[in-house]
Amino acid sequence: MLGLLLLEPAAAGSEQVRSAVDAGIRPASGAGSIELTARPRVDGAAARRNLLLFQAASADGAELYEIHIAAGDLLVVRDHAHCIRSAARTPHNFKTGGAYRLTLKWNGASTSFLVNSKKTDEFNLMLIDAFSRFRDVSTIDGGSDFEVSDIKVAAAAGIAEDPKDRTFVREHRCPEMASLLNSPQQEQFMGVSLHRFTDAKTREQIKRYIALLPAAVAGSIGHVVFVEKSYNPDTAWKGMALLGARTMLVQEVSLGNPSTFFHEAAHLYDYHASVREGNSKSSAWERKFMRTGRQGGVEPGPSQTRGHSVLERMDGSSAEEEIAAFVGIVYGRYFQLQGSSRKNPFENSDDKAKLAFLLEQGFITRAIYDRINR
Ligand SMILES: [Zn+2]
Repeated sequence: MLGLLLLEPAAAGSEQVRSAVDAGIRPASGAGSIELTARPRVDGAAARRNLLLFQAASADGAELYEIHIAAGDLLVVRDHAHCIRSAARTPHNFKTGGAYRLTLKWNGASTSFLVNSKKTDEFNLMLIDAFSRFRDVSTIDGGSDFEVSDIKVAAAAGIAEDPKDRTFVREHRCPEMASLLNSPQQEQFMGVSLHRFTDAKTREQIKRYIALLPAAVAGSIGHVVFVEKSYNPDTAWKGMALLGARTMLVQEVSLGNPSTFFHEAAHLYDYHASVREGNSKSSAWERKFMRTGRQGGVEPGPSQTRGHSVLERMDGSSAEEEIAAFVGIVYGRYFQLQGSSRKNPFENSDDKAKLAFLLEQGFITRAIYDRINR
């Protein structure tokens, strides 16, 4: 399920920050390319958790291009078509003293990335929080670990648009955020404003869900906006967390499946705690439970990497998505127990530890914990 990607800002105090705009870097949206050379200056540069190497908005503000270093991987992002993110993650194997030519190309719905002329994995497309226009602010920043040079921008991409990508963009119509977000409040429950519910019954259902949340989680949800079936018949998403707007969109189809609501609620709470309180629950989760992921040097299996990027947050590399998914599972179990006196404990010790983590970090109440656990 969808939420906005959280990337840590590049480290402050780096010596080589320039404005891409000042450097005359104004890529053209629609079709074009950016090339640059990255030179790692120090050993272990790859160990940095996250560093933004390059970011530029297109001249018309319609698209955004980013290249990040995330530990042993490069993350490449292109935001386009108002609410589509194309993203790829690829191991970089950078060595100190080496020079790496990075090339990002785009044509219509398709995007491609090359390292020293070698094409990396396919880009995955996902629907994100709709954006209006990107500002002119862009950066080239190798920090103290990388030198970034020889930037070239061209208006021709030299790649063909893949019909699969075109279909994805066509079928994932952007939610019309303005009309959704400006809809009048119907009522407020535990501090959460409810909008656009078509009848009292569905509103009662959501209120039952909200009532199960710890107060701090409910407090991180400003608005829940109901999206009826007929509003967006083509769309693939079931729920969406608009992090900056503290808003959850819930599709009618997902009402009967509590996991969607609690999954998105977890995203909003996690974001709220990280950004507003500086308390990153995702980092704590990552340190505790993600030691077998790429960070720990063990590659995930092919089923986890094909067709998914970290930005899709389903490949086990994203702590934010893992927490949200696990919260969804926990509530799924809770609802299975309704009307029964049984318990439904996790058997696996890792899952038991994750459940305890959710309690400790305030994602679930003691009552939910006790109901599931023995
Ligand atoms: Zn999610």
